Amino acid sequence: MSAPYKLLIHSANQIVQVVSNGETAVSGQQTRNLSTIDPGPGDGGCIVIGRDGNIAAVGLNSDIKDAYMGKCENVYDATNQSIIPGLVDGHTHPVWAGDRVNEFAMKLAGASYMEIHEAGGGINYTVEQTRNCSEDHLYDLFKKRLYELMRSGVTLAECKSGYGLDFDTEERMLRVINRATHDSEVKMDVSATYCGAHAIPKGSTAEEATRDIIDNQIPKLKALCDSWELHIDNIDVFCEKGVFDVTQSKGILEAGMSAGWKLNFHAEEFNCLHSVEMGAQLKASAMSHLEEISDEGIQAMAENGCVATVLPSTAYLLHLKSPPVRKMIESGVPVALGTDFNPNAYCLSMPMIMNLACVNYGMTMPQALYAATINAAASLGKSTTHGSIEVGKLGDLVVLDTTRWEHLIYRIAGTADLVKHVIKSGEIVYSKD
Ligand SMILES: [Zn+2]
Repeated sequence: MSAPYKLLIHSANQIVQVVSNGETAVSGQQTRNLSTIDPGPGDGGCIVIGRDGNIAAVGLNSDIKDAYMGKCENVYDATNQSIIPGLVDGHTHPVWAGDRVNEFAMKLAGASYMEIHEAGGGINYTVEQTRNCSEDHLYDLFKKRLYELMRSGVTLAECKSGYGLDFDTEERMLRVINRATHDSEVKMDVSATYCGAHAIPKGSTAEEATRDIIDNQIPKLKALCDSWELHIDNIDVFCEKGVFDVTQSKGILEAGMSAGWKLNFHAEEFNCLHSVEMGAQLKASAMSHLEEISDEGIQAMAENGCVATVLPSTAYLLHLKSPPVRKMIESGVPVALGTDFNPNAYCLSMPMIMNLACVNYGMTMPQALYAATINAAASLGKSTTHGSIEVGKLGDLVVLDTTRWEHLIYRIAGTADLVKHVIKSGEIVYSKD
């Protein structure tokens, strides 16, 4: 007879539950402190994960260990280690071919966005390379990127299409994203986002692109979703001056909403267009970037329960001003984090993002961890299953080779040595050695 439980972890120096009362998003005063289990001398932290992959118990060794010992298939001694929930990456563009390393050199040498564009670089280059790439090759590239993300502690990631811009390539990118869900070698949950409105395709106007998305791409994608051939969770639009304006973005988002997808879009990055107020009115799950958000925008997000996904890697690389993160948190907006991994911002490390968020955005370490767990899960509508260590939630954990979890942020880019194990649904899916 097999053991009734999959995994028992005991004697941890610290367990950071993040939240412990079923909270599904956190902002304001509550971000001051995390829910933690800090055992006294001679005791330890203990977590039990059931055969269903969900957390069956969490507490102190002295309270729960004896009741489960002998009933678990695997037992892990976490002495001198600390445990946090699996991290959640709220915003990535991970499916594309052809890197842009040459452009990085050009940018360092002072080339402007337009000079890069004229030299045949920028998003048009990625679109061309992606359109010419087979589904299998795109999948190989994507899978390697997911693996790297997972090694940094991520167990759930949002993944966007958006380098096809035409129906065929966008569909191919979404198929690639869906493949990860059915591949037993990929130990990560993925939230699929259709981002056909990521840029205006070459030779087209914004209005023509909008019509193609609303009248052609979305109906075809919806039909594929209805027949279970494709799965899409969210819809995204790059709402920005010179890309899709607020009216066009609203039309696209409404069409996506009718298809049953959650709204999660790029807003107020370079200009304040008051797209956030539009998104809040549509009850968007999340909006990303927000460097230029207005006070009215912050208010609208707070009133409508929208999550603000901020992306410190992009702001760092493009020397953008910081979004008013502290003001958003104080106003009651749950703030989430994402790597924004894309050919222009090659970062697959959530701990690095948390460090940037603390140093450049003035977030506290608890706020950064809230943003990289429960709030990022909330931005994807998944905070009842992901983002904290609570009974009934998925057994997605990161075991850190240190007695205090804050080392994950404190050690700049040094997480390879710190992430000892990544656990997905009670299964150890990555080990440092
Ligand atoms: Zn993005």
